[in-house]
Amino acid sequence: MSEEIRKGQGEGSLDAPQRHPIDWRDSGYYDERALTAELERVFDICHGCRRCFSLCNAFPTLFDLVDASESMEVDGVDKADYGKVVDHCYLCDMCFMTKCPYVPPHPWNVDFPHLMLRAKAVRRRKGQVSARDRLLSSTDFVGGAVANPVAAPVVNAANRQGSVRVVLEKTLGVHRNARLPAYQSRPLRRRMRERVGADAKGEPTEATRGRVVLFATCYGNYNEPWLGEDLVAVFEHNGIPVTLAAAERCCGMPKLELGDLEAVARAKAQNVPELASWVDAGWDVVAPVPSCVLMFKQELPLMFPDDDAVARVRDAAFDPFEYLMLRHKANKLKTDFKNPLGRIAYHVACHQRVQNIGLKTRDVLKLVPGTEVSVIERCSGHDGTYAVKREFHETAMKIVRPVVNRVKSAEADHYTSDCAMAARHIENGLNDGTQAETPMALLRMAYGL
Ligand code: SF4
Ligand code: SF4
Repeated sequence: MSEEIRKGQGEGSLDAPQRHPIDWRDSGYYDERALTAELERVFDICHGCRRCFSLCNAFPTLFDLVDASESMEVDGVDKADYGKVVDHCYLCDMCFMTKCPYVPPHPWNVDFPHLMLRAKAVRRRKGQVSARDRLLSSTDFVGGAVANPVAAPVVNAANRQGSVRVVLEKTLGVHRNARLPAYQSRPLRRRMRERVGADAKGEPTEATRGRVVLFATCYGNYNEPWLGEDLVAVFEHNGIPVTLAAAERCCGMPKLELGDLEAVARAKAQNVPELASWVDAGWDVVAPVPSCVLMFKQELPLMFPDDDAVARVRDAAFDPFEYLMLRHKANKLKTDFKNPLGRIAYHVACHQRVQNIGLKTRDVLKLVPGTEVSVIERCSGHDGTYAVKREFHETAMKIVRPVVNRVKSAEADHYTSDCAMAARHIENGLNDGTQAETPMALLRMAYGL
């Protein structure tokens, strides 16, 4: 073994990847010249490596630009075209976490997703963000305005009208064939107003406190409230009290994907003190959407490395199935399953994969007798709002195709994903009248709850 590899600095190092804090409050972060130089440096490394060609459309876009240039090197690519690569990055983090041998501690220090984030932040500071992107990323504003008994039926009906969708595509740039989530008349947080109080007792284990605050998430609150309802049913069946924080805002992930780091900071300023107060009182935090869990576990701690409250929330934030598996390890998970689930085609969401927790959803589902889980570890291509945008929808449908083929060949009784939005995108790719289910709904079904 070479000295470099032994020190964890060479290609093939066995050391865990390290992620540097995001320097977003430093004025140099927004220096366009420095950014362009860094893009050129990293693009050149990627051109020489090309491992990530199949992960998303950012890398094929870069390699096509290089191959079409006169020199067939990165120096032949027009710098004005760098933005085309940035456009296709939806910050799934997969190139950092699963593929790249040049991430820190390697001295080449490649963090492709966070470089894309910087490029998006610079672009946003220059005001180069469309009204469509601002609106789509304002999930709590839109959800708050629409998810009520008056507006929800009207908006849902309009979104199903072909003529409305054509207008929406022309005016706003939302692809006419993209599935838009339906809004609820009664959001989850209203349905769950009567949750247990702060005095509810949990049974702690070494790794969990046995009582959780549910971060409902915008999608779980306004669009698919059963994500939270199923979670509550399963957790309470296992003796874990679930409550809601007094107030909640979007976790900030849609704004992060837009490079709007100030908006992320504003969301953090509301969510973190509230969640930290629960954590300090002996509660853990779970959320039914992997991207939101990742926000608390990874992105906020990297944006605010010196913030103690952010670190306390990070340490108490769990993916729901990670939590259930930790309870199982401590013999605190009930296995009184009543119904076999048969064959399940299970798509692992990118933002859950990059949490580095292993396949906990699969492991929990496999505890159910008469259940076989076939795992699909590929990006679905939904990725926040990427799949609904006019200019990216067709590409998103191409990205999901291998996942759809795997679901078909699994001949499963159920298909599911940790990310409900990815599941709907797979459903759209299948387009055969079947419906995706969530892993928590399947577990609830197995318990017969
Ligand atoms: S973070 Fe995801 S979308 Fe962005 S370049 Fe990497 S693999 Fe592609
Ligand atoms: S991100 Fe890393 S692994 Fe992917 S193409 Fe670039 S250098 Fe290679």
